[in-house]
Amino acid sequence: MLNIVLFGPPGAGKGTQSENLIQRFGLIHLSTGDIFRANIKGETELGKLAKKFMEKGELVPDSVTISMLESEVDKHPGAKGFIFDGFPRTSAQASALDAFLLTKSSTINCMLALEVNEEELRTRMLNRARTSGRADDADPGVIQNRIDVYNRETAPVAEYYRLQGKFVGINGLGSVDEISDRLCDAIHASLKSH
Ligand code: AMP
Repeated sequence: MLNIVLFGPPGAGKGTQSENLIQRFGLIHLSTGDIFRANIKGETELGKLAKKFMEKGELVPDSVTISMLESEVDKHPGAKGFIFDGFPRTSAQASALDAFLLTKSSTINCMLALEVNEEELRTRMLNRARTSGRADDADPGVIQNRIDVYNRETAPVAEYYRLQGKFVGINGLGSVDEISDRLCDAIHASLKSH
């Protein structure tokens, strides 16, 4: 299996780049943000719970997020691999993912971390709000909270993968195609080294 964590702050381009990567490598795309939004739309109990956190730019609690992610993985028993987009976002999620994949004799091959400065992130999210309809992209206060939560709770997850020798930083500035090429090169390099 080829399992990739696509990492980076909110607005770094994880969703856009996932689209290219799933086509090129035949992977299943699991975006926890997209799954929560589908649950909110479907007015499920999970959606109602997640909404309270998402509208403030806070993280949905680990226990809820981890069990949701595991059941999504289990929906694709024959998958060639996964792109985890927006997960793991805490150290507890990262170790739970490792333990879960181990039960399937699998592992994360690499973490690709899109690097984009905060000024650019704010601009991208406000632009995205015009077409995405995402309330959390339209409010500068919520955007700032998401960036602060990322710096405080999510950024340390990079260290978790760095210690395993799996962290690859990717310049997230440039055209969609340029960034996509950088990601593909990094995946090929990681496949060669393992
Ligand atoms: P995203 O679409 O990745 O920007 O996520 C939107 C929102 O969904 C986040 O601001 C969080 O409230 C929630 N969320 C998404 N993924 C996670 C996660 N792995 N852990 C906790 N909350 C998450």
